[in-house]
Amino acid sequence: MIPRTLFDEDHAIFRTAVRRFVDTEIVPFHAGWEKQGVVPRELWRKAGEAGLLCPSMPEQFGGAGADFLYSVIVYEELGRAGASGPGFHVHSEMVATYIERFGTPAQQAEWLPKMVSGEAIGALGLTEPDAGSDLKAIRTRAVREGDHYRISGQKVYISNGQLCDLIVLACKTDPEAGARGVSFIIVESHRKGFERGRNLEKIGLKAQDTSELFFNDVRVPVGNLIGQEGGGFRIAMHNLAHERLTIAVSAIAQAEAALEWTIAYVKERKAFGKRVSEFQNTRFVIAGLVAKVQQGRVFVDRCIELSMRGELESTDAAMAKLLTTELLWETVDQCLQLFGGYGYMLEYPIARLFIDSRVRRIAGGSSEIMREIIGRKIFES
Ligand SMILES: Cc1cc2nc3c(=O)[nH]c(=O)nc-3n(C[C@H](O)[C@H](O)[C@H](O)COP(=O)(O)OP(=O)(O)OC[C@H]3O[C@@H](n4cnc5c(N)ncnc54)[C@H](O)[C@@H]3O)c2cc1C
Repeated sequence: MIPRTLFDEDHAIFRTAVRRFVDTEIVPFHAGWEKQGVVPRELWRKAGEAGLLCPSMPEQFGGAGADFLYSVIVYEELGRAGASGPGFHVHSEMVATYIERFGTPAQQAEWLPKMVSGEAIGALGLTEPDAGSDLKAIRTRAVREGDHYRISGQKVYISNGQLCDLIVLACKTDPEAGARGVSFIIVESHRKGFERGRNLEKIGLKAQDTSELFFNDVRVPVGNLIGQEGGGFRIAMHNLAHERLTIAVSAIAQAEAALEWTIAYVKERKAFGKRVSEFQNTRFVIAGLVAKVQQGRVFVDRCIELSMRGELESTDAAMAKLLTTELLWETVDQCLQLFGGYGYMLEYPIARLFIDSRVRRIAGGSSEIMREIIGRKIFES
């Protein structure tokens, strides 16, 4: 295998600590959380204490000021363990990043230290029942009334929806202005008129509290606006490469984990008096997948390197998301096949990964949208 060259000794020490945290604080309880449809708040506080939330947050906001590789390690270790419940990625890489990069000093002081410690949990509200891929078609409306905004509308499929203390909410501040009419506003969960809807029943990610959220004339101070009024689209676009890369980081780690579990299983399992690993079909399927996943790993690591230098283009991040999430799906499907009937049983991690990984081709920008972005760059530049 081609050695990875990104990490130094301090990263290795952090990885050992994260792996220990995941193996002791998450893995033994995950199946129970899947039944409850949510992870406990206490986990967030423990994760904050262990440095798993917002690892790259600058020290002035209560973070460790670590490099992006520390975040990469967190998502790789969660992926490796099949821990799909904790919505750390949305909280740390989206909500906190929006506030850190575009928030006012008051917003940063109020929220970032609490997000690093796990005391406050963040959600990102973009998608609505009638608008997902097309952000500018959202209908949630924020009307300025003196020193407040009055917000009304509905969001759907919002990760961390049951637990969140703040929502970075995409609203229309000017319905006539298309993309330039979208703004991001922080809505605190204690505001009158804010209501959590159903914790949605999904085919996978059973421990993730993906929810509907309702905003019924919620009044928030104008100081809750992030960046400029009408600047929401630009903020969302600015962070997209980073968000998509972190999805690719998780996806390739999950594909590696699926292969690891499968290789161990086929070496043990016997059929027709042989180990399943002795069948040429098994060896060919696994060899083909290992080659593709290795290719994906090298590509993702290179994208991480570029991202850390501020040189990752949004088209490259779209390619990383497209390739790794499609490859994850192919890998998990073929690996599950090699488990036979056991692969269909939820007590096996490969079965859970099968249902959990399906969403990767949809959320965070679907594969079709990734192809659109790449195609636009090829044909319109
Ligand atoms: C488990 C889960 C968690 C999520 N978490 C969040 C969250 O925290 N916050 C949030 O805001 N959203 C979240 N989402 C929403 C997610 O980002 C959207 O589902 C996704 O962007 C797709 O939007 P949509 O569902 O409205 O599909 P649509 O936009 O209606 O798309 C339907 C189909 O049409 C295709 N399509 C759309 N436009 C085009 C086009 N131009 N060309 C070709 N094909 C196209 C799509 O690829 C898809 O196949 C989550 C979704 C899930 C399932």
